Amino acid sequence: MNNNSRNDQKEISIDPWGSSNIEDYDDLFNHFGISKFEHLLPDIPNPNHLMRRGIIFGHRGYQSIVEAINSKNPFSVLSGFMPTGDPHIGHKMVFDEIVWHQKQGAKAYALIADLEAHAARGLSWNDIDGHAKNYILGLLASGFDLESGELYRQSSNRRVQDLAFELGIETNFSEMQSIYGFSDNTELSHLQSVLTQAADILYPQLDQPQPTIIPVGPDQDPHLRLTRDLASRLRLFSVTEAYASFESNDLELIYLKQAFDKLSSKKTPLNCNDVLELLENENPSDENLIALSTKLQSASTEVFSPRIRIINHRATSQLFGELASRISEEKQVYKEHMDIFNSSYMAIDDIVREFEIEHGGYAFYPPLSLYHRFMSGLTGGKMSSSIPDSHISLFEDPESGYKKVKASTTGGRESAKIQREMGGEADKCPVYELYAYLLTQEDDSYAQRVYEECTTGTRLCGDCKEEAANLMREFLKDYQQKIKEVEPLLEELTLRTHPEDSD
Ligand code: SF4
Repeated sequence: MNNNSRNDQKEISIDPWGSSNIEDYDDLFNHFGISKFEHLLPDIPNPNHLMRRGIIFGHRGYQSIVEAINSKNPFSVLSGFMPTGDPHIGHKMVFDEIVWHQKQGAKAYALIADLEAHAARGLSWNDIDGHAKNYILGLLASGFDLESGELYRQSSNRRVQDLAFELGIETNFSEMQSIYGFSDNTELSHLQSVLTQAADILYPQLDQPQPTIIPVGPDQDPHLRLTRDLASRLRLFSVTEAYASFESNDLELIYLKQAFDKLSSKKTPLNCNDVLELLENENPSDENLIALSTKLQSASTEVFSPRIRIINHRATSQLFGELASRISEEKQVYKEHMDIFNSSYMAIDDIVREFEIEHGGYAFYPPLSLYHRFMSGLTGGKMSSSIPDSHISLFEDPESGYKKVKASTTGGRESAKIQREMGGEADKCPVYELYAYLLTQEDDSYAQRVYEECTTGTRLCGDCKEEAANLMREFLKDYQQKIKEVEPLLEELTLRTHPEDSD
């Protein structure tokens, strides 16, 4: 996982090493099970401007982070950066996400994906060293607090590499081919860098398993999906909810819970036929229910009641037996799983996780992810480190930053007259994105005013760009002053420059 790549394949595939825009964010919800972020907003204390303005648009499991923030429970945030160039204004957004979570109480991690840059992009170690230093400076200038955070380079983190080796035992080449499209010609070090990324994602949990949020662009989702799988494969046990002998996915569990809530006051005990009848009557043509109906049909007269199920994945029978005796609630123990009644998922999950840690297991939580929109390039299309005019580096001369904004494409109409009549297309305008993502900072009313003035035709592109260009020049001056101020902190860091420096 890193925050340097883009994707523009219109067909629904996501390539973490691609280099283009996501055309339709809605496809990500439909095809990859990424959830919409907006529903969580009311429960988040002090959401930042990226959250409030819909720039952060999707997540996997962010509810756990909201709960951790609100109840002050431990959690972590981690993101990585591939040092293929200096950080630009698109990366500043990710710096801000990390720092925001750190301020909400997270232990923060930011890593330099130097092994990936070397393996997947072929960068020399000398180039990597220079860019890595600038990423670190950018993070520090954005407020990353070294007291409650950790910065590291992949190449110097032995624990990450050891974990990557363990993860390699849990996967194989054909899985890598199907996820990443690797071919017979893919270098093994590229493959190894994927395992290193997965290890990075799980690294915050090595000492203390806890919910960990990974802010990334949606092109990095394959890494998250793989790592979530690997995290569960390394568990000794899994804990799920169930209502009868069969297993159900998340959507099916929602249907089953609704059915139980409706029927349980009318009949005791319920059986699976009762539930099947209700679901078929209420949802006669719901395709989501086809598989579930088959399961209910097979279970037939089995008692239908809520339970928490522990499944033994990797523990010996003896250890599984010891876990069973640790649980005092009403239960039925089978050879490879046990069902616990009249208890909560959280309570049982805590017991199992604690037991697993006691017995040398990782007890990882599946990593959670937070997805932001990509910033458009100033020349149209993607913002890319390899297209100088498309981006503005955080280390760029402020005058050059000013000029790039002035030269930017816009969402303006063919003429001022038409723009006054029809309004501009702020939603397609890279300059508006500069205002929304960066230049108006936390001032929502300013961003809103730009949007309204643009779309109602009272704002024209020439003046709008001049205003944004001036703000950009000031932003770069201020930011580079902060970079100067944090430079002495670099000396406190013991990041090795590259692998040959290790002893
Ligand atoms: S007025 Fe500003 S926001 Fe609107 S299209 Fe022109 S440059 Fe973009």
